[in-house]
Order: sequence, then structure tokens, then C-alpha cells
Amino acid sequence: MTTPFDLSGKTALVTGANTGIGQAIAVALAQAGADVAVAGRTPPVETQAMVEAAGRRFVSISADFTSIEPIPRIMEEAVAGLGKLDILVNNAGIIRRADSIDFTEADWDEVMTVNVKSTFFLCQAFGRHIMGRNAKGKIINIASMLSFQGGIRVPSYTASKSGVAGITKLLACEWAGKGINVNAIAPGYVETNNTTALRADEKRNAEILARIPAGRWSVPADMAGPAVFLASDASDYVHGTILPVDGGWLAR
Ligand code: NAP
Repeated sequence: MTTPFDLSGKTALVTGANTGIGQAIAVALAQAGADVAVAGRTPPVETQAMVEAAGRRFVSISADFTSIEPIPRIMEEAVAGLGKLDILVNNAGIIRRADSIDFTEADWDEVMTVNVKSTFFLCQAFGRHIMGRNAKGKIINIASMLSFQGGIRVPSYTASKSGVAGITKLLACEWAGKGINVNAIAPGYVETNNTTALRADEKRNAEILARIPAGRWSVPADMAGPAVFLASDASDYVHGTILPVDGGWLAR
């Protein structure tokens, strides 16, 4: 039986999917029926096993997003391996923590390049691929609570994720009439490598936990359903939204 959430026959490219949120989303898309290509710098051994266990095709593409140089090759390898792309998930991202008074240019540039510059140019390459085929496409960018809030000691991360929200809305305005849905998921506080330092800080950990209405940190699998929704026909009239998946954090 098909549902509006069925991704059978669809193909997806997910960045940074060897672990964390990217892995959970890649596996969820596969379980919903999509074949999956992943692009990143660490071999996605576990993700490959999970996607193939779901009965889907898997393509692994080696890429480092500290430069946009790999993007044309990523598109070529993904299309060569899967035939076409219908869904793009821009998940790869990094964070650098230091007081703003001491923050370095290197920590500014690396975060901005991986989190927002690579995201934009992947969207551009994917947009050209979809429009060149006169097809429908779905883009899901991974934003953050810091697309809405200021945060502390993460200036380049806050700038980058506010930028991700901005380009998500801009691209939605340009492409909603061209068959491409551009949206973002803004995860709350998720237990991944990205938040190891935060969770190790007992005081910050307790402060964060105390203001999450759901009463727990998120796990990567919490992003699975929202990602399948935004990748599927069920979200065809959803454009330019930054969907918080945050246990109620922003409602506080
Ligand atoms: P994670 O476990 O650290 O995953 C980050 C992914 O990005 C990994 O696959 C990582 O690859 C990849 N990556 C980082 N730098 C890269 C580079 N230069 N080139 C290629 N790949 C690169 O963290 P996560 O929490 O799942 O993060 C996924 C996304 O969610 C990020 O955009 C993050 O900002 C966002 N997010 C996370 C949270 C949270 O609470 N965890 C909240 C809001 C938003 P390696 O394994 O090789 O480093």
C-alpha cells in the first residue's frame, strides 16, 4: 500500500551521513524506499550496512566540504551510481567553541565554509540537476536552534546556521514555482559528536536539560520522521519552512 510518505523509486544524496543526524536521516529515507548516496570524509561503513539492510542501493562518495571543489564530482558520482537525484539533505556541519573575544579567523572560515557555503553550492548544483530534467526535487537543509537564537561561545556556528535559514527561505522563494521544495529541519539538542563537549560540561548539560519541555535530549532518530515528511509528496506545498524538532525548546 502506498502512502504520501512513500519514497519508492526516489534517490537521495545526504552529506555527512557516516554518523549522527545524517546517518539517521539516510537510513530513514532508505527505510521509506529511497536509494541513497552519501558524501563525506569518513567511510560510512555502518550507514552502508543499515541502508543495504533496508534493501536499498547505496553509493559512497568521498568529499571534504572545507572547499566547494568536490561538488561537481559529487553530483557526477551520485547520478552515475543512482541514475538521478530527487532529494538533497545538506547535513554535514561543524562547530567551534571559544569566547567571541578570542575567536580566530580560522574557526570562523572553516565553519562558514562547511556549514553554509558548501550547503548553498550543493543546493545550486542540485537545483541545476532537477531543472535540467524538468523534474521535482526536495532539499532539506539542517539548521539549528541557533538559526533562531544567539547561543554562547559559538559565533561562527550561529552565523552559519542563521545563514542556512536565510538561504533556505531565499531558495524557496526562487524555486517553489520551479518544482523544488526547499526547507530545513532545526534540531534541538541532539546526542551526537557535535554536542559531546556540551554534555560533558555538567552545569551546561543540566541547564539545557532543565529547559527542554520533553524532558530529555534528542537522539538522531528523532529527525527521521520529519526528514521523510519533507522528502516526500506529503510536503509538496511546504516551502521555505525551518521546522524545529526540539522537544519544545523554542516554545519555552
Ligand atoms: P556529527 O555527529 O559531528 O556529524 C557531523 C557530520 O558532518 C559527520 O558526518 C562529519 O564527518 C561531517 N563533516 C564535518 N565536517 C566535514 C567536512 N569538512 N567534510 C565532510 N564532512 C564533514 O554531528 P551531528 O550533530 O550529527 O551534526 C549533523 C548536522 O546537524 C550538523 O549540520 C549540525 O550542525 C546539525 N545540528 C546538530 C545538533 C546537535 O545537537 N547535535 C543540533 C542542531 C543542528 P566526520 O565524521 O568525518 O567528522
